Amino acid sequence: MSYQVLARKWRPRNFTELVGQDHVQRALVNALDNDRLHHAYLFTGTRGVGKTTIARIFAKALNCEEGVSSSPCGKCSACEEINEGRFIDLIEVDAASRTKVEDTRELLENVQYAPTRGRYKVYLIDEVHMLSGHSFNALLKTLEEPPPHVKFLLATTDPQRLPVTILSRCLQFNLKSLTLPQITGQIDTILEQEQVSSEEGAVRQLAFAANGSMRDALSLLDQAIAYGDGGLREDEVCTMLGTIDRDVIYRLLDALSQDDAALVLEEIGKADAFAPDYSSLLADVVSALQRIAIAQTLPDAIDDSFGDRDAVLALAGKLSTEDVQLYYQIGLIGRRDLPLSPEPRGGFEMVMLRMLAFRPAAWVPDAVPGRARSQAPQQSAGEPVVLKPSARPAVGTPAPADKAGGAGSGTSTGEWAGIIETLSLKGMAREMSLNCAFHGVDDDIVQLSLDPAHTHLLGKAREEQLEAALCEYYQRKVTVRITKEGKLESETPAGQRTREQHERQQQAEESILQDENVKAIQNAFGGSVNQDSIRPRD
Ligand SMILES: [Zn+2]
Repeated sequence: MSYQVLARKWRPRNFTELVGQDHVQRALVNALDNDRLHHAYLFTGTRGVGKTTIARIFAKALNCEEGVSSSPCGKCSACEEINEGRFIDLIEVDAASRTKVEDTRELLENVQYAPTRGRYKVYLIDEVHMLSGHSFNALLKTLEEPPPHVKFLLATTDPQRLPVTILSRCLQFNLKSLTLPQITGQIDTILEQEQVSSEEGAVRQLAFAANGSMRDALSLLDQAIAYGDGGLREDEVCTMLGTIDRDVIYRLLDALSQDDAALVLEEIGKADAFAPDYSSLLADVVSALQRIAIAQTLPDAIDDSFGDRDAVLALAGKLSTEDVQLYYQIGLIGRRDLPLSPEPRGGFEMVMLRMLAFRPAAWVPDAVPGRARSQAPQQSAGEPVVLKPSARPAVGTPAPADKAGGAGSGTSTGEWAGIIETLSLKGMAREMSLNCAFHGVDDDIVQLSLDPAHTHLLGKAREEQLEAALCEYYQRKVTVRITKEGKLESETPAGQRTREQHERQQQAEESILQDENVKAIQNAFGGSVNQDSIRPRD
């Protein structure tokens, strides 16, 4: 028996085999079973989502020798002929190749004749938006007074280009792109039936590359089975698709989170061995950043359909929300500029390095001199080692000093801000810590209270991150206790920053208003000061 490509072999033969498009399926099944058929249907949607497949199943349902129903038998000669594409009363037209008015006229002239074999004549016009204006008029005439034995099934990828007069005479169904789980599910089913062994990652790569189109997914699957000589391995599929292992993307982002330019370049060097398409690699980096941004706001919204949930959540904790936004923006602009770079790898490297170069300096509280970023732990040898001890003695015996200081003492706020800066906390965990007031360490319990205005920052994972970081900091097991009720008795580092910014703004406004020159100008020209435009000088 000759080999049949998977997309054809596995084309759904009835509504129950159809993957996805439940809304369309239900509407059509109900229409068929309740005998409430419209004379013209329009299926819209991108390529390979099932427009023609649905139209063919529909044609079978109408013409099956067992009678009109939503479940055609699949065995009678009408069903078989439709499956094989040689049923005389199913007239399939590809409008993209048949736009001349004569062609359509010829086609529609035969409309009034009764069907030769079946109950209904079914016209399936694919890419219907490609018909010429004249052809549309001819079609419209038929749609206005359709003979009872004719059904029109129109399909298009571009419904915007159809005249309203046509649209208003059709029942319109919008077919959705298939989701990753729908595609991987179908591929798994096929692989099992075809008895082909496969790696989970390989299937995911194929589904991802298919971009919502089942037909593309199955063509790629065909190709991959041939390429892999019977089995499906992730590295082979990656090579075939010209994509690279998604781990590379997360290793790159991890290097960024460590602020390590050398490591970034090293990872790009490794990826280069696979001769990647740098434009799509950058696109992958950008979409990973988008998932990380979502993970920072709504960790539960991250599913594992890409098999990267853990990597995304880990990076969401390591990168600050501002950095993620900035990297995303730089990545987007980089995609636009990449074609202009003399060679793609260089262009890609520049985009990655730009992410590091433009990374905003973190806010450093007054209590701690030096830049906040110097904590990057393992890689750059000397620096952090120097910094940690210098910060630690100050808090080595925090409890007594603190208790003496009592509520609202400035030292505890500064001290806590200093501790946070030496911890390798990022993202929401860092944000949560900055919004806590510190009440010292009692019996190995770090006592904190969260600013009631920021309770949304609380989360078990973040508390655990903070606790782990503090254990490392104190070099012993400590427990974090965060109270969230009641009024804050002392200031949080974030609160201190806001207050200081406010004070500086007030000072700036005052000094401008008191300035002799400003007063002179106001008097001479009758001017006034726009207070919103005053900014404190850094
Ligand atoms: Zn049948």
